[in-house]
Amino acid sequence: MKCRQVQELLMTDYSDGQISEELKTTVEEHVKLCKECQRFGELLQEEAIDPFKRVEKVRPPQSLWYKIKEAIEVENRQQLATNPIIILLGKFKSIIHVPKPVLASATIVVVALIVLIFMQPQLENGQMISEYLEEQAEFLASLGANAENMDNGDYVNFGTALEEHFL
Ligand SMILES: [Zn+2]
Repeated sequence: MKCRQVQELLMTDYSDGQISEELKTTVEEHVKLCKECQRFGELLQEEAIDPFKRVEKVRPPQSLWYKIKEAIEVENRQQLATNPIIILLGKFKSIIHVPKPVLASATIVVVALIVLIFMQPQLENGQMISEYLEEQAEFLASLGANAENMDNGDYVNFGTALEEHFL
């Protein structure tokens, strides 16, 4: 086994105790005979393994965990505050409190549409939403078509009445 391989194993699997017995023996026999790897092993023990073992024994005080938790919560709130949908909802929330209920419900529809449009690229089922919006558009179009038909009907009736009058 080459020195580089031995030193790599010393840094990783050997110090983790994740090494097979066979490989462990090979590494130890190499280190016994190789001054360079012996020195490497000693340095590794002093510089990397021993300080790490001391750190493991130190238990952080409970107050540190509270501070970390608090910092995470503050960060979450800040992220929430910069979320465009939350900002939009906040802005529209003040508009929703208008006295006219029709305007209020119209605003809610607008908010819902904006939220849907904003969320569309973030959702996996964005396709479903665009299909839903298409359906809504078709529904609105059909309402318009019905209104046109009614107008045509009235006009036709009127025409017939006129025709009846003149005939
Ligand atoms: Zn060596």
